[in-house]
Amino acid sequence: MRTIKNYVNSKFEDGEGQEMYEVFNPAFGKRIAYVREGKREETNRAIDEAHDAQTKWQQVPVSDRIKFLFRLENLMWNRLDQIAEVTTNEHGKTFEESKGDVVRAIQNVESAAAASYQLMGRNNRQIASGIDEELVRVPLGVCAVISPFNFPVMIPFWFFPYAVTLGNTVVIKPSEKTPMSMEMIMDLVKDSGYPDGVIQLINGGKEVVDYILENKKIAGVSFVGSTPVAEYVYKKGTSNRKRVQGGASAKNYILVMPDADLDGSIDNMIGSFYGNAGERCLAGSVLVTFPENHDRVLDAFKRRAKELKLGYGMEKTTDMGPLIRRDHMERVERYIDAGRNEGGKIVLDGRDSRCSEYPEGFFLGPSIIDNVAEGMTVMNEEIFGPVASVHTSDSFEHALEVINKSRYGNASSIYTTSGKSAKRFSERIEAGNIGVNVGVAAPIAFYPFSGMKDSFFGDLHPQGGDDGISFFTERKVIISKW
Ligand code: NAD
Repeated sequence: MRTIKNYVNSKFEDGEGQEMYEVFNPAFGKRIAYVREGKREETNRAIDEAHDAQTKWQQVPVSDRIKFLFRLENLMWNRLDQIAEVTTNEHGKTFEESKGDVVRAIQNVESAAAASYQLMGRNNRQIASGIDEELVRVPLGVCAVISPFNFPVMIPFWFFPYAVTLGNTVVIKPSEKTPMSMEMIMDLVKDSGYPDGVIQLINGGKEVVDYILENKKIAGVSFVGSTPVAEYVYKKGTSNRKRVQGGASAKNYILVMPDADLDGSIDNMIGSFYGNAGERCLAGSVLVTFPENHDRVLDAFKRRAKELKLGYGMEKTTDMGPLIRRDHMERVERYIDAGRNEGGKIVLDGRDSRCSEYPEGFFLGPSIIDNVAEGMTVMNEEIFGPVASVHTSDSFEHALEVINKSRYGNASSIYTTSGKSAKRFSERIEAGNIGVNVGVAAPIAFYPFSGMKDSFFGDLHPQGGDDGISFFTERKVIISKW
């Protein structure tokens, strides 16, 4: 069985570590590859080479650095289906969802091409008598990207196209659970002609993350993953004098007002809770209703949820794929039990709808827990699976208060036909990504991916626009008198 390769100085290499992680096709429950835990020496070598490459790369005019993006973008469109198939096989999501993952990545390549405009500085003539002052942006240095399993392609692209186009070099460490998509992307990076050392890929898990955080030549770290790890990376990275941005866990509340257009929005709501099998940091997790619409919403939601067909993501009839690992599936099942034990009513149990065609796969059907009250585990904790907790609130005001008690603030949505409710919700909810009649409030590439509270560590958010430009550059002020 093959082992995933690193990509260092434009060459594919075997890792050197002895410890192995298994990569599965979660639909079949079968191992398909191994990943070696990285060693300190090989990680440091990749960083050293990225550091050497950066001194030359920053001298390449930005208009020339952008040309590599155009080549990469073309190659990605040409290989879209192949990349998406690899993603489906290592992650489990449907082929359409995987294509969406790649298209979102491509949008970040396109957005990074605006770098020449965004790099423009500022200047003031005659700031004092005979003195001019200007502000220029210069690259940060060598940047690291550490990504989670759930969007194997898109999330590294939230960062590295901007980083390299702004004159930095990067070391990317994908999730050890889904490393194959980025390994394939490195083929395209190679064909795009990026010089040696500009984009490096190092595989592994926790140990490689520590080697990156301890290496003095790393100037910036872009992390996405769970809150405990994001906090660890943020604290260790910043105490080692690195600039760090860390996207983290989520618990997203979806409020359905009595005036909502239920027929027109039910598929969108279902997509929010069960798309990507609920393994999405923007996934709906708690459905908030009111006494006057609870039964109507629950009936429609349950009817659509029951229709979802589980299966292998490459099959056209599949609506929902498996979870990433057996232990994760069992963890989600324990949440369903916790919901029942703490007073919830299981109105749909995903354990009753496994996938009979693939009995070894890590499948769990859509679940719905009704009567979920404040303080219950399924009301507060991230489940990261296809489980909807239904909470009924006695008023709009109270619903806003309940939602704002969450420790997380990644996303929240309202379904309504009232502009007044939508405006109040958008203004009052303490979450960084707000949906109005949109269940997955995913910002496009040139907007920041704006998590708040325990869903984000740092100040400059992922993706392009002002935050991306500021994260990957230092500002320098030059004061001149001639
Ligand atoms: P994870 O935290 O387990 O892993 C993320 C990365 O950290 C991986 O590359 C992994 O190798 C590394 N890692 C794992 N444990 C580590 C440790 N102890 N020390 C150092 N590094 C470690 O996350 P995951 O399970 O891959 O991804 C799911 C999580 O990511 C969910 O909580 C989800 O909400 C979150 N997520 C957040 C966003 C966002 O933008 N806020 C986006 C996607 C996913």
